[in-house]
Amino acid sequence: MSPRGGWVARPAAASTPTRKLASDLLDLSEEQREIRNLAREFAQREIAPFISEWDENAHFEPSLVRKMGELGFLGMLIPEEYDGLGVDTPTYLIALEEIAVVDASAAVMMSVHNSLPTQMILRFGSDEQRERFLRPMARGELLGAFALSEPEAGSDAAALVTQAVLDGDTWVLNGTKSWVTSGSHAGVVLAMARTDLPEDRKGARGIGTFIVTPDLPGFHVGKKEDKLGLRSSPTVQLTFDGLRVPAANLLGEPSEGFIYAMQSLENGRLGIAAQAVGIARAALEAATAYAAGRSQFGTPIKDFQAIQFKLADMATRIAASRTLLHAAARAKDRGENVKQATSMAKLFASETAMFATNQAVQIFGGYGYVKDYPVERLFRDAKVTEIYEGTSEIQRIVIARELYASD
Ligand SMILES: Cc1cc2nc3c(=O)[nH]c(=O)nc-3n(C[C@H](O)[C@H](O)[C@H](O)COP(=O)(O)OP(=O)(O)OC[C@H]3O[C@@H](n4cnc5c(N)ncnc54)[C@H](O)[C@@H]3O)c2cc1C
Repeated sequence: MSPRGGWVARPAAASTPTRKLASDLLDLSEEQREIRNLAREFAQREIAPFISEWDENAHFEPSLVRKMGELGFLGMLIPEEYDGLGVDTPTYLIALEEIAVVDASAAVMMSVHNSLPTQMILRFGSDEQRERFLRPMARGELLGAFALSEPEAGSDAAALVTQAVLDGDTWVLNGTKSWVTSGSHAGVVLAMARTDLPEDRKGARGIGTFIVTPDLPGFHVGKKEDKLGLRSSPTVQLTFDGLRVPAANLLGEPSEGFIYAMQSLENGRLGIAAQAVGIARAALEAATAYAAGRSQFGTPIKDFQAIQFKLADMATRIAASRTLLHAAARAKDRGENVKQATSMAKLFASETAMFATNQAVQIFGGYGYVKDYPVERLFRDAKVTEIYEGTSEIQRIVIARELYASD
């Protein structure tokens, strides 16, 4: 790690950071080690050299989609028969953590694509929809997005008002979707819209999910958000202005789309938890190296107990987050009810990301507050993990509700 240009003298991090970062508690298989190394090398080679520039300019690099697709990172949970890698959920999360260590923006693109649109088509789509969309999505030829939120429907997502009306063999959609990750570059957007009419509202049971493609008439990309963090992940509004969607693009039943979205968000939360673990780990790696290289009062600051305690707390919470995450992922793959476990993993990992990046900035002192070192970006990137795919408050509601749920 070295300062990013400029003539002002900057403290150098030690070149041999502490190695024992408690990341090997997972007992990885040979295949998992290979995929982890592939993801690590890819992120170091294709993303790390550009990350500061992309962050500063809020630049999304479209070639990443193709490159990640070629390596299989965009079809990790898609079966091999549809050109995916067909790995289990823990293996996918290991790769995602490695991408997130280097770039949380690329990680959210990877997480949304793998966890939401592709999984929804695989799980709830028709054979024809799987044939049409999964192969190009697995290969990175079509990037996926998920459009649930609206200006007036965030945590209360079932309050969405985008309307879908059937006109012969076409659904006509009108409304605005907010905060769509990758929405400006997506080839496939899974969008939720009301199929019940205003005079006949059925709440969460009156919503359909539509496979929307940007070539359809009435599809408009609106405002691109100017964000605190994740600056190289484009987050946009999408406007559907009489958008004409063929009936063949309705996913499953016209009234069940919200249920599909909620069930899929359990996958999504695991992805965001892995992203958060990656951000936290990057903060710990940067802070351990810096603390070994920086001296004050004639002593490396890593020898001050106040600094050691921060590093120890960061390492412990990261290991606990990852352990919880992987326990939830294994339970999911066994077919168990993981509603509570996925919320716990997302809640704990995202608060760990915020904790670890805050501690890292403190360990860097004033140098943590400037863009010459990575922890300033990590601190900004961490915050959103406590917000999207269900805020921390919503995760706590889910966890508490499940304490009283009967199976
Ligand atoms: C960078 C980014 C990317 C995103 N990507 C996507 C995407 O790809 N697709 C998509 O559909 N959405 C996306 N979102 C939207 C995201 O999921 C919402 O922002 C999130 O669900 C919160 O909704 P809101 O922002 O409207 O906040 P609100 O729901 O208005 O919440 C405001 C505050 O009130 C609290 N609150 C709300 N209800 C309760 C309650 N019942 N009890 C206690 N506290 C409560 C919340 O926790 C929060 O602190 C993205 C958001 C961001 C910032």
